Amino acid sequence: MLICFLLPSFAFRADSFQGQEPHRIVNNRFYEQHLLSQSDSWSDFLSDYDSWDARFDSNSGFPLRAWGKGIAMGEVSSTHLTGELLGFLSNHSELFHPKSLGELQVNHGRAGIYAHLEQHVSLKEPVLDSQGRKIEQASVWRAGVDLFLKEVDGEAKLTMFGVELYPELFHQELVVTLSAQEAIEIATREGWAPFSEHYDVKERLVVLPIVEAGGLQLKLAWEIKSKTKNPVGHWVAFVDAVQGDLFHIFNEVRFLEGSLFAEHDTRTVDGDRSVSALRNLRIPAEEGTVHTDELGGFSFLGDLQEDVLLRGIRTRVFNASGDELVLELNGGEQVWVAEELSEDTATQEELIAELDQYVFQTYIYDWADIYAPHVVSSWPRTDVNVNLNDVCNAYFDGELNFYKSGEGCNNTGRIADVSYHEWGHGFHYYNLVSGVYDGTMSEGIADVVAFLQTEDHRISPYFTTSGDAIRNVSRNRVYPDDVVNEVHTDGLIFGGAVWDLWDAMDEKYTAELGEEEGLIESKEQLQHLFVKAMESGPELVTSYEAFLFADDDNADLSDGTPHLCELVDAFGEHGLGPKGQEGFYSLSHEPIGPQLEGTSYTITANLQQNAADCIDAQIAGAAIYFSTDDGLNWSTQQLSITDDVLQGNIPEQSSHQSVLYYLELKDTEGRISRLPEGGIINPFQFYIGEREEIFCTDFEEWSEGFTHDLLAGQQQEGADDWMWGTPIGYGGDPDSAYSGIYVWGNDLGGEINGESYNGEYQNDKHNRLSSPFYDTSGYDRLVIEFKRWLQVEDGYYDQAQIYINSDLAWTNHESRSEIGDEHHKDEQWMTHVLLTEGHSEIQVSWDIVSDAGLTMGGWNIDDFCIYGVSLPKEKVKKPDEKGCSHIAFEQSKHYLGFFVMLFLYYRRR
Ligand SMILES: [Zn+2]
Repeated sequence: MLICFLLPSFAFRADSFQGQEPHRIVNNRFYEQHLLSQSDSWSDFLSDYDSWDARFDSNSGFPLRAWGKGIAMGEVSSTHLTGELLGFLSNHSELFHPKSLGELQVNHGRAGIYAHLEQHVSLKEPVLDSQGRKIEQASVWRAGVDLFLKEVDGEAKLTMFGVELYPELFHQELVVTLSAQEAIEIATREGWAPFSEHYDVKERLVVLPIVEAGGLQLKLAWEIKSKTKNPVGHWVAFVDAVQGDLFHIFNEVRFLEGSLFAEHDTRTVDGDRSVSALRNLRIPAEEGTVHTDELGGFSFLGDLQEDVLLRGIRTRVFNASGDELVLELNGGEQVWVAEELSEDTATQEELIAELDQYVFQTYIYDWADIYAPHVVSSWPRTDVNVNLNDVCNAYFDGELNFYKSGEGCNNTGRIADVSYHEWGHGFHYYNLVSGVYDGTMSEGIADVVAFLQTEDHRISPYFTTSGDAIRNVSRNRVYPDDVVNEVHTDGLIFGGAVWDLWDAMDEKYTAELGEEEGLIESKEQLQHLFVKAMESGPELVTSYEAFLFADDDNADLSDGTPHLCELVDAFGEHGLGPKGQEGFYSLSHEPIGPQLEGTSYTITANLQQNAADCIDAQIAGAAIYFSTDDGLNWSTQQLSITDDVLQGNIPEQSSHQSVLYYLELKDTEGRISRLPEGGIINPFQFYIGEREEIFCTDFEEWSEGFTHDLLAGQQQEGADDWMWGTPIGYGGDPDSAYSGIYVWGNDLGGEINGESYNGEYQNDKHNRLSSPFYDTSGYDRLVIEFKRWLQVEDGYYDQAQIYINSDLAWTNHESRSEIGDEHHKDEQWMTHVLLTEGHSEIQVSWDIVSDAGLTMGGWNIDDFCIYGVSLPKEKVKKPDEKGCSHIAFEQSKHYLGFFVMLFLYYRRR
């Protein structure tokens, strides 16, 4: 058959034949145009409409297009217009030949009104189509009259028309010899897809203008349209209606080519917009699904099988509050702009949230492709729900969920940080190889994922409509003091550590590689390290070690890691890692218990050097500081250092007194490490001398007559926060009792009465725990001793006090307003010793008096005892005023201790 001249135009896929429609070239040569403009029909027209101009079809001599000043056609309604236009055509019948035209079709568009009439040719004898309907004329292929009108103030004006007519056909009557059915057989069985099933078969009798050697040929043909699925074809074939030859065939299945972009919030709802390609978007074409490329580009054959939605390889965006955004593909470059898709501002906001999420998720997957490809393999695509009917939040539950705007918050779907953060929760999960999926870590990790994209320590600026960010990782939150038992806030401890690590690594690499390369290398290293470290699933308290393990490059953690010093420093700033709580030197010491007189007291401590390779210094020396006058004067003794063991002695002291002491280590760069860290603020303490137990309790039994009360401050849940229970490490509290299970303390933390307690006392409160009265008669002196774990703000602001009966017997260290940060912070159970004169009965009370500022863990009390001391008779006698001090100092150390103790006691009253 005559298919040899078919143009072998293959495209896109080798099995899709494209072909080409019949067409002819229309030249536009000036000389010819000039001649044609002289024609009678055009001259007649110009005599009515002299402003008009035309470009002529050199073959027919008719104006291919003519244009000029609008010709009024009256009302725009189709009925009126049809009459008006047909009248206009009749008035210029030499130009339009209305008798050879078919029905007038009118279409109203956005730019104007379009009317079309086909050129028809009559048949000598009517024929039947495949459905048995009578056909009396044939259409001429792509021929006819087009009229273009503009609407002005409800009136239609003709400003352009085109005449594509074949005058050769004006007075012909054509003869058909091939039936419609025969033509269909030929077209479908002998055409391009002979073995495929053809469906939607339609035929039409047409006259086809074909340029062949010798000039223009007009062939009467059956145009047979049919579809096949394999190969994909919307076939158009022409069968000579006289000879029965199949002489032209082409595939109407079209390439649709274009590229898709979205205008989106650049980062957040601050008015800054960007345009990004809609990449990896799924286009469900009839012949198979295709995806937009890196530039948003696409190309496919045929029709769409389904609507194109914001669904792609990496993400699927679902609109929770209404219809999905359907992307109507027109081909070419299309930019989706919310404001152009709807006039309703609420809808616009929902639309932009949809577009934003598609773009943001595309970006975060770009990051993951590089730094966490394993996460992409196990979690290749996010399902994102936007415009959920709530405000001020977003969440991850396997899918990413974002809320609408309202109550002072922007639509969270419009904020890249929130998008990255929520994805970060999934990253945390899918990146895990061991360990736990810890909530606090998850928040920290999610914030890190966000700031690695934004390079901004602020998380989600414009979370609120006023522009505020929701969190900030640059604030130095410290473990464990700043743990508040709220995952987002606690997560900032980790987020802050990684942020500081970034700084530390920037410093390292810019020093090694210079500014530009250094910053790139630093971020690169940080990101890989972060992803590796998080696969071990640490909790906050082991997050430093997770980095250390991941950073190791030689399976030897005893010789450091490439970024050891940066890790030590950065995590140390946040109370994590070796430097976190101890500095570069960790001292540990088991406090000595009660002693007897007549001997010196040996003090032993262990030293651990942390990250010794990160500093150049050597240890310069260590000493013990001790005071026998309740901290007024301090003496010192050197400690020897052998194999990380410190040892020394407090010299013999007189009986019936307490000794305060702390240890201090110095290195050659002047770093000082103390134990306890507070030094004179909360030193160790022990009692010297014989004593007799009057009463002891380890608080394992409820109450034992202890009571508590709010003395001042607003009464509210937790205002009087004295509790009998087990401390759990919140707010600086210990995480266990000194002995047994129970202690008394301020706010022991956890879930109590359905409220979440953070371990800290409240602001502006004065509350008190009181013991019952104990019979202490018959002793010269009394020793009150208990185990203390106290955390309280500088006494300038908050006071922890102990009363014996109604007398103030002890209060915490205070500085003054210019300092104000000399807090009392016990880091281990301490022995607290109080000495008092004999009383027939005593009651001991522990108070917390807080101001409006900082709050801390408060009291934790265990193992409470009262001892009686009976002094030898001759020593009870009061020495006379004169000369007493000389005697005491020179003759007996025993007197010294006794005297100082008395003095202190009176001072405190
Ligand atoms: Zn979160």
